[in-house]
Amino acid sequence: MSQKITNIQAYLRSFASAEACRLSVQDLSSLIATIFIRAGVPDGQAQILARTCVYAERDGAHSHGLHRIPAYLATLTTDWITPGAEPDIHESAGGTVLVDAKSGFAQPALAQAMPAVMRKASESGVAIMLMKNSHHFGALWLDVEPFAERGFVALTMVNSTSHMAPVGGTKPVYGTNPMAFACPRDGKPPIVFDQATSVMAKGDVQLAANSGQPVPPGTGLDKFGKPTEDPAEILDGGTLLPFSGHKGSSIAMMVEVLAAALTGGNFSWEIDKSGYTTAHTSRAGQFLLCIDPRSSGESAFTQRIEALARTLRESGQSRLPGDRRYANRKRSEDDGIAVNPALLLSWLEASQAGKA
Ligand code: NDP
Repeated sequence: MSQKITNIQAYLRSFASAEACRLSVQDLSSLIATIFIRAGVPDGQAQILARTCVYAERDGAHSHGLHRIPAYLATLTTDWITPGAEPDIHESAGGTVLVDAKSGFAQPALAQAMPAVMRKASESGVAIMLMKNSHHFGALWLDVEPFAERGFVALTMVNSTSHMAPVGGTKPVYGTNPMAFACPRDGKPPIVFDQATSVMAKGDVQLAANSGQPVPPGTGLDKFGKPTEDPAEILDGGTLLPFSGHKGSSIAMMVEVLAAALTGGNFSWEIDKSGYTTAHTSRAGQFLLCIDPRSSGESAFTQRIEALARTLRESGQSRLPGDRRYANRKRSEDDGIAVNPALLLSWLEASQAGKA
């Protein structure tokens, strides 16, 4: 999008209410960063959080894009989170980087730990990052894509507030515990998958509830433990269900082991937000594994990945994970991102009010 806007707020005010407009990725990121700064997040961290939301929107991951801003703002009016917390980063003798995010956002803490994780992976072939006391409220692929862009294979998992029952259960125990994986390619964007362990991410259930749409059978139970296709009933004291029954349930359990037990962070069911009625983020943990394929002695790694991608396509897989996002990314970069000006202006006002 080539249009250069000198005053974004004046530009937004020039639209009638309910009229949509488009902003470039850069302009929208700068506006969202301003909103976070007004809400009390220090500049550097605000830029990272803004990218987290705007890049998700840019790539068509709407459940973790702009939709999240009101919940971020509501959370930032509480002491549940410490915006601007300085993470403790400790490099152990082995390949482990320990991070205590001190109840700050996960993404800025990861950005600070990332150079150490990559250096250790380059030295030893593999490194892990164990983060605790961190609030992750975004899409997870954003955490692994930068590793793959620098030639590393990366796998990450976070746990979150319990919204999902284990297989056979009727009450939430696990978070929707997503995992994301990224693998570099030669001269092409990385292969990246990122998925919740629930049938549907909670953000998508909220979007369905907002638009009055039912969710597919098997997505969740109501507060009485009965299957329901009404997203509002799932959100009102009900529970989400794991994908593929016992298989998703076991993966959610693994995420608790790696992201909570191993890091020292809260298990999903231990996250206690009582007393913080408007808080939405989870004070949980994050696990990240980083592998340097260049140190495996297998010099043909990238050719092997191309052979894999080719075989999948020849067998009929029309799209690799990540392809949809990359196509959306190109469209957003060319045409800008569609936004509701009145909504953006209301968030600007709310962020200022929240700070006061
Ligand atoms: P989706 O089911 O939409 O997608 C999961 C993955 O499968 C994506 O990598 C997607 O690629 C890929 N994919 C989807 N359809 C196909 C297909 N037909 N062929 C090949 N690949 C395909 O994701 P979820 O709804 O499970 O998760 C949504 C988001 O929610 C994630 O970003 C996750 O990180 C986030 N989340 C965050 C939480 C947190 O606490 N921070 C908690 C839970 C979820 P593509 O992207 O290209 O479509």
